Amino acid sequence: MSRIAYVNGRYVRHAEAAVHIEDRGYQFADGVYEVCEIWRGKVVDERRHLDRLERSLRELSIAMPMSRAALAQVMREVIRRNRVQSGIVYLQVTRGVARRDHVFPPAGTKPALVITSRAVRPEVGDKAAEAGVGVITVPENRWERVDIKSVGLLPNVLVKQKAKEAGAKEAWFVDADGFVTEGGSTNAWIITTDNTLVTRPAEHGILAGITRRVVLDMIEREGLSFDERPFTVEEAKNAKEAFITAATTLVMPVVKVDDTVIGNGHPGSFASELRSKFHEVSELEPV
Ligand code: PLP
Repeated sequence: MSRIAYVNGRYVRHAEAAVHIEDRGYQFADGVYEVCEIWRGKVVDERRHLDRLERSLRELSIAMPMSRAALAQVMREVIRRNRVQSGIVYLQVTRGVARRDHVFPPAGTKPALVITSRAVRPEVGDKAAEAGVGVITVPENRWERVDIKSVGLLPNVLVKQKAKEAGAKEAWFVDADGFVTEGGSTNAWIITTDNTLVTRPAEHGILAGITRRVVLDMIEREGLSFDERPFTVEEAKNAKEAFITAATTLVMPVVKVDDTVIGNGHPGSFASELRSKFHEVSELEPV
């Protein structure tokens, strides 16, 4: 079965799907995206992902490419046509196609929309979670507006590659004051030796992760001790547990930060429990 993508009004074979060379996403990274998990045939936390998409677009003065209801329909159609039961759906909206010029294109230029979906075997993530992953730390070098889920991801690309070359899964950006902001594609968490979960507030320096939000809801539900504050690399290295969160990785235990082993070097019980209960708390929408 061939994969199908949605590109600007048409469902096309993935292998032949293409956008115009003057798409502003291609020329200027002038666009935003979202990734939702698909779990057991359901879209996970669609409402929150679409809320964040609308916010990202608003912050950049890009119009919604179609109504939210229509967008949800197209997203479902792409998932259905690709027969994805477990995997991801990816949405990208750019400011559209126009002659290359930094300033916004003429009024009436239609935003461009691409939606793809692909299967991911859940065992792969579960196996990684059983062993835990390593992270490296790198200086924060991104722009101020990382709260916008922009397709401009060059710093993230470079640090994720650096992590891979170091045998790690993720890179944690560290700000000028020594505090961890977030990972290249995940939010960062620690659990202190007195069993308090700590993650940076979403006001500044990070993307307000949807998975992060759901984990916060879980923490509340379970009555766990929690502190929304920045933490340093040193604190992370002395933590009882650490983990990262994202729609693609869910809750992923971290067992190593740079060369320091966290806890006993095995995934901690909090992180593993949060991972196993995640879909009890997230919103699941039928395809
Ligand atoms: N931070 C960054 C920089 C990301 O790219 C992502 C996800 O792609 C996240 C955090 C986690 O966000 P979410 O939980 O909504 O997937």
